[in-house]
Amino acid sequence: MAVIRASAERIGDRAARLARIGAAGTAVTRLGLTAEERRAHDLVARWLAALGARVRHDEAGNLLGRFGGDGAAVLIGSHLDSVPEGGRYDGALGVVVAVEAIEALVAAKAALRRPVEVVGWADEEGVRFGIGLYGSSAAFGRLPANVERRADARGVTIREALRALGLRGDPRRARIRRGAVRAYIEPHIEQGPRLARRRSALAVVSTIVGIAHARVTVRGRQDHAGTTPMAERRDALVAAAELVAAVEAAASARPETVGTVGEISVRPGAKNVVPGECVFSIDLRAPRERDIDATLRALRAGARGVDRRRGTTTTVDLVNRVPVTRLDADMRALLRRACGAAGVDAPDLVSGAGHDAVNPQLDGVPTGMIFMRSHGGSHSPRESADPRDAARAATALAEAVRELCA
Ligand SMILES: [Zn+2]
Repeated sequence: MAVIRASAERIGDRAARLARIGAAGTAVTRLGLTAEERRAHDLVARWLAALGARVRHDEAGNLLGRFGGDGAAVLIGSHLDSVPEGGRYDGALGVVVAVEAIEALVAAKAALRRPVEVVGWADEEGVRFGIGLYGSSAAFGRLPANVERRADARGVTIREALRALGLRGDPRRARIRRGAVRAYIEPHIEQGPRLARRRSALAVVSTIVGIAHARVTVRGRQDHAGTTPMAERRDALVAAAELVAAVEAAASARPETVGTVGEISVRPGAKNVVPGECVFSIDLRAPRERDIDATLRALRAGARGVDRRRGTTTTVDLVNRVPVTRLDADMRALLRRACGAAGVDAPDLVSGAGHDAVNPQLDGVPTGMIFMRSHGGSHSPRESADPRDAARAATALAEAVRELCA
């Protein structure tokens, strides 16, 4: 059997070329279903076509490049969109690694009896339309109802955005037939410090955390900032401030649980008016459902206490819930062996970020993920990754594909 050799140089070069699309300095802005995302798809499509793929877009705007015939394929890849002013590697490096795995397999003249498909998922970040994991949700039948009518901040709907990209405007048509995907493997940067601390280039993801998104509305009483005595106020923002601190306390009290308030708005929002209403977001994540449930219960109880003391009325609405997803045990074992073949003794790691891999796994497709060591956090221009680590991931991915397609 020919030795598989992935090239760090080629990976570095391709990652740099992708990073120029939507770039401002070292920051990358490539929102889902935009012209920038499409330019990234077009660049990857050229690489795939040069390697002999049949390349197409599905009706959700996902990019697919198929090697081999029509049967059930092994699907590999990640996403090509970014957050606003994001980094160069989140998503993009996973797609580059998938392309490199194919290139290495072609160079090694590996005999693949089954088809392989490289995917660039559209709009994973969900920044523009508020639907995270959009492209893979469409492919695996997990889109919310009436999704095509969701609009961005300018009022452009998903249907219109798809039509602007030359598609028909119905992302549900992207649904992949059951049984048409044999397995899915996603390489992705870790986006956290754990691999760097362990001095390991790669990890095999065991579980992807569950996520609960809630919207909290605190209603108090709008009043004059000069004439309303302190004891007679029902200040919605001060009540909300207590609740924001309660999110931190409730998440800190549970193992591996994280809670974030990232958005807050105050009405009417004037310096001489006691706030009448305050709305904020909660993002809760944990590798165990019971910790998410318990944190939500603690926050609801905390809100009742604040309302009693302050005369406010608080509602906590659950906006979205993604279940804790354990990745397929056989795929994890396969990826550990494959990382070993690439010279890496890869530890298991829980993913604190959501990933497209959730959707195929929940749809019954055996799914695995390889994490690559990264530095400087993520969703930020400081994010970085070493092409040599990515080359190890590409070698491991190629080994896994060879085994699955033998
Ligand atoms: Zn990502």
